[in-house]
Amino acid sequence: MRVGIGYDIHRLVEGRKLILGGVEIDFPRGLLGHSDADVLTHAICDAILGAAGEGDIGRHFPDSDERYRGVSSLTLLKKVGDLIRAGGFRIGNIDATVILQEPKLASCVARMEATLASVLMLPAGKINIKATTNEGLGAIGRSEAIAAWAVAVIGSGE
Ligand code: MG
Repeated sequence: MRVGIGYDIHRLVEGRKLILGGVEIDFPRGLLGHSDADVLTHAICDAILGAAGEGDIGRHFPDSDERYRGVSSLTLLKKVGDLIRAGGFRIGNIDATVILQEPKLASCVARMEATLASVLMLPAGKINIKATTNEGLGAIGRSEAIAAWAVAVIGSGE
C-alpha cells in the first residue's frame, strides 16, 4: 500500500468558468490557469502520481505544452488513472478538501465525487470530497483564490 499527497491553488478571476472536480459551478468568477484550472482535480492527480512515485502533474502535463491549453482537467485525471493502472496499481481511496470562501459547495459535492469516480473507473464511495472556508483569512478568505488538498491510497494488484 502506498500513499500520496497533492496540493494546488489557483487565482479566482473574472471571465472564467468555475470548474471544480470536473463540475461547472454557478459563480461569477472562475479559476485562472493554463488548463481549466480545476484545482481539486489537479490536487487529486498529484496525490495519485505521488502515491505511485510518478512525480507530479507538471512533469506529465507541462503548462508550456500547447496541447494542454484550456484542456479539461478530467482528461489529465483520466491519463493519470491509465498510467497507474498500466503500472499495476489500483486506487484504494481518495480524500480531498477544497478550501474556498465562496460559493458553498455542499449541493455539488456528490456530483463531483460521481464525476471523478467515473473518470477513474471507481465506485463512488472510494472518493470523498470535503469543503471548508478559510474563515475569512488571507487570499483564500478574501475570495482571491481557491486551494485544494488531496490524499490517495493506492495498492498493487488486487
Ligand atoms: Mg493547478
